[in-house]
Amino acid sequence: MENAAALVKIFAETISEKNPPQNGDYIEDDILYCGKCHTAKRRRLTFHGEEIIVPVMCECAARADEEQRRQSAAEQSNIRAAHLRRLSMMEGVYRSCTFDTAEKNEDNARSIKICERYAEKFPQMLRENRGLLLFGRVGTGKTFAAACIANELLKQGFSVVMTSLVMLVDGGADNLIARMPYIDMLILDDLGAERSTDYGLEKVYSVIDARYRSGKPAIYTTNLPLDTLKNGADIRYARIYDRVLERCFPVEFRGVSRRKREARRGFEEMTKLLIEEE
Ligand SMILES: [Zn+2]
Repeated sequence: MENAAALVKIFAETISEKNPPQNGDYIEDDILYCGKCHTAKRRRLTFHGEEIIVPVMCECAARADEEQRRQSAAEQSNIRAAHLRRLSMMEGVYRSCTFDTAEKNEDNARSIKICERYAEKFPQMLRENRGLLLFGRVGTGKTFAAACIANELLKQGFSVVMTSLVMLVDGGADNLIARMPYIDMLILDDLGAERSTDYGLEKVYSVIDARYRSGKPAIYTTNLPLDTLKNGADIRYARIYDRVLERCFPVEFRGVSRRKREARRGFEEMTKLLIEEE
């Protein structure tokens, strides 16, 4: 055991030599103190009956070390988020959509809240493979809400892919299917808008089916009414929508389309400018 003590002593001395006293440091009772924070830089230990002096971090060094760790962890997570964003396939216009900047009105407030909660509870949603089906008329903010979820999950460090089924039919479906197991959240925009050729349907079905089999959640948006999805007249769609409805909680987006609302506002402004003002 004497050998062990000797080894530890050599080891401690080597580290001490690598952390030599700095300007202002001083020795009291054989122990080195930091000149800045006045806490010890060495500590006495007894190891197998022998006294050994080992180097320790003084308080200011420990604080600086902690700060550096925190910074490099933050850098790592920023690098990861940027990397995930590059892989997300998200179009530029959607990258800035956040729940904070979402335009809430009496029609969509409830639906946006549901989406926000979904993002908050995502680790559980991922474990339980639960997705969302955002449905409603054109321009009611479904895609915007889906993009808010995407950005929130990217910020949390999850891998997200957001793209439209129309784009996938035109190419990229096979590549996406190959990546499926590595994607935490898949968002497919505009279900039902893909060309209803047999080829288009086959592509759409293969993507949705691959997602279903991956055991991971998806969010779909659609302009189709829920009834059409549930009891579509077209038997070719039935098997696709069955898969979607089995795993996705339906959230309705109501109200006048944003485009119509803006047009109406413009019209009101013109009325004021041209008619009401004398
Ligand atoms: Zn110090």
